[in-house]
Amino acid sequence: MHSEAENKMAEPVFGPAGTPDDFPGGSTEKMPGWLASIGLSAFEYQCGRGVRVGEETARSIGRKALENDIFLSLHAPYYINLANPDAARQEKNVQYVISTVRAADAMGASRVVVHSGTLLKRARGEALKTAMAALKTILRRCDGAGFGHISLCPETMGKTGQLGTLEEVLSLCQLDERLIPCVDFGHLYARSFGAAEGPEAFLEILDTIERALGVKRAKRIHVHFSKIAYTKKGGELRHLTFDDPEYGPEFLPLASLMAARDYCPVFICESAGTQSRDALRMKEIYFAERKRSYEPFSSDCPVP
Ligand SMILES: [Zn+2]
Repeated sequence: MHSEAENKMAEPVFGPAGTPDDFPGGSTEKMPGWLASIGLSAFEYQCGRGVRVGEETARSIGRKALENDIFLSLHAPYYINLANPDAARQEKNVQYVISTVRAADAMGASRVVVHSGTLLKRARGEALKTAMAALKTILRRCDGAGFGHISLCPETMGKTGQLGTLEEVLSLCQLDERLIPCVDFGHLYARSFGAAEGPEAFLEILDTIERALGVKRAKRIHVHFSKIAYTKKGGELRHLTFDDPEYGPEFLPLASLMAARDYCPVFICESAGTQSRDALRMKEIYFAERKRSYEPFSSDCPVP
């Protein structure tokens, strides 16, 4: 069962992660109205350093989002590590996720992004096993607490020492059909030292998701997108803006493929400071590509 926001989503939505530099200021409650005024349709509320939003504020943000037709998601605390085998630590993870889904519920948000975790020097297979068991427990506890309508989104991670290759995230998502992968294309690019970029790599990524989860779920994935600098040593270094000339990935080839396949993702831009402006660029690119792929008589797409 999905929430109302998920059910009515027939179009891809676009928005920033957190507060962009050009937000004219004031409280987060003003964010939905501002985003709508500049043409955006999604917002990812950051609880990266902890869930500090009170229930009243959460409800107020939710009301503003509803009024302005802004799709809301939340990012759970960064320090959650599903792959940590320590029992006390795992119980803490459960509490962190439950407090995030509780805030999400108050906001009327339907998706919560969760980092897969770090390896802690363990073998990838072992770490994945731990994370799968931990996620199962978290799902059971979220259901028990009455938050089963909120989708958890395990995220692909940018550092090579982290759990969260595409395949690992898809394995996690196979545990329950409500799980939605958060495919961070900047992270996949950084952890592959720049290889995961361009039409061929993106095609392979989409095909892999479709094979693992089916076409229907693939079309509704949660997307994080930004350019990211990396080192050959460990992958992700830092988030950049779309104007960065050196690093990738570029959004156009991905938009082109997704538009042709009629994908309907939540697109969250994670550029450093320019995430609202770059989200708008993503929206323009995506709809231009979709128009192109729906245009049977255009010169570069002749009808046989
Ligand atoms: Zn993240």
